[in-house]
Amino acid sequence: MTQNDAGPIRKIVILGGGTAGWMTAAALSHRLAGSAVSIELVESDEIGIIGVGEATLPHIRAFNTAMGIDEQTLIDQTQATFKLGIQFVDWGRPGDSYIHPFGAYGEPIEGIDFHHVWAARRAMGDAAYISDYSYPVRAAEANRFQRPVSDPGSILSTFSYAFQFDASLYAAFLRQVSCGRGVVRTEGKVVDHVLDGATGDVDAVVLSDGRRISGDLFVDCSGFRGRLINQALETTFEDWSHWLPCDSAFAVPCQTTAPVGPYTRATARAAGWQWRIPLQHRTGNGHVFSSAHISDEGAVATLMSNLEGPALAEPRRLSFKTGRRHKLWSRNVVAIGLSGGFLEPLESTSIYLIQLGITTLLDLFPDRIGMAADAEEYNRIMALEFDRIRDFLVLHYVANQRDEPFWREMRTMAWPDSLAAKVEAFKSRGLLPDYDIGVFLPPSWLAVLVGQNIVPNGWDPRVDRLERHVLSAKLAALGDDVRSTVDRTPDHMAFIRDAAARAGS
Ligand code: FAD
Repeated sequence: MTQNDAGPIRKIVILGGGTAGWMTAAALSHRLAGSAVSIELVESDEIGIIGVGEATLPHIRAFNTAMGIDEQTLIDQTQATFKLGIQFVDWGRPGDSYIHPFGAYGEPIEGIDFHHVWAARRAMGDAAYISDYSYPVRAAEANRFQRPVSDPGSILSTFSYAFQFDASLYAAFLRQVSCGRGVVRTEGKVVDHVLDGATGDVDAVVLSDGRRISGDLFVDCSGFRGRLINQALETTFEDWSHWLPCDSAFAVPCQTTAPVGPYTRATARAAGWQWRIPLQHRTGNGHVFSSAHISDEGAVATLMSNLEGPALAEPRRLSFKTGRRHKLWSRNVVAIGLSGGFLEPLESTSIYLIQLGITTLLDLFPDRIGMAADAEEYNRIMALEFDRIRDFLVLHYVANQRDEPFWREMRTMAWPDSLAAKVEAFKSRGLLPDYDIGVFLPPSWLAVLVGQNIVPNGWDPRVDRLERHVLSAKLAALGDDVRSTVDRTPDHMAFIRDAAARAGS
């Protein structure tokens, strides 16, 4: 009988020390502290980490809090700035710009969702943009930031925030935290694996110097190569590049010259898009593109000619394939991070998916007997979220009125059926996807649908029964509240400096 046949999990091996590996190590070591389970993380300095991934989503705050990580320490250690949303420039058509905020638009009026009221008023000629009723949009545009409050009567309760940080520093910080909690770090390159002849489970990984590391549960955080989930277990991959054809990126940091805004920017380019992520000490930039539509030389030239400050390094090329593994958990291997799948960083979802993978694993934490059932549930949860994010990303591309070949192809391609149904429901009746869990909830869909110039032609019929002057007064008061609150909000960088000074950091 091998150690994989039965009984509780006693040894977890994490393969990989990038963001995924160290987030997994930090979370598992926190949750399993005091138990009989030991954790070993294997990473290879020779292979290194991908080292991009600087924009996050608000969920990361809950993750850090659950691990007992103080927010000010995190900000200091990772040169973090705050993030209220993502600005999309030139996506619908050149000259367009909108922010997808981490927060709501307006508030329900007489029990009717705000956007129905806005859509009806718009049809009657009211020119106000929906962002006039969003505090995080207007605060981001003004480079201002403060934390939300819990008082539901305040406009400051209507938003959330995330961080833009140096992902390498985040991984280094989590390594320190994890090793302090007893995680054993082993440096070495895995060159082979040993499968259990009877079950097909992974028994051990073998390093280039012959060392053999056994485990009961393996978390594959080995990046795009998927050393265990792919190379050892040959788990199949669902390729989505027909919907999301960008397959390459060049990334380069530059000096920060412009004011540091609390938002990430994604600017559409002829064959893809360019990100700008301002941190405290530098700005991260990258050009994500379809290699079928632009050469490497052209992609680099586009990136470099659109930097806002002097480059701090040579541009680095990255290749990827969009999609996910059919089974992110197969036998006794759970793929977390790039090994499990990748969606281009348009909405900063990779670190969120790492977090979801970790928390789902912890929720289901297996004993050996239940592993197959746990794996099935894990795969269901992860597939659902991957698929929803895919539809959300595709929405940004298909609803465009740009004229380059890449964008024309995106506009005319066959949409995922699940997305077409959502867009139709919104156009005809103002209905938003009925999601109450997951990453992109109705306000996010609203932001991108309207931002991409898709507006409802119908709305909740109850709006037509409301008194027009009452509606006008409510909307005017809401717009005033947003404006005056933004005016009283501190400058983003001043907020960061003051908080650091108060903490003595
Ligand atoms: P990696 O960083 O590749 O780490 C893999 C680890 O496995 C390394 O430690 C390596 O040494 C180890 N390893 C591999 N093979 C072996 C072996 N045989 N033996 C021993 N060790 C091995 N995400 C976001 O959330 N926000 C963003 O803004 C964002 N931007 C991105 C931009 C681009 C262009 C790309 C490509 C990705 C972006 N991401 C972003 C995704 C993000 O970078 C990754 O999700 C994150 O870095 C996690 O990577 P990882 O830990 O899975 O893999």
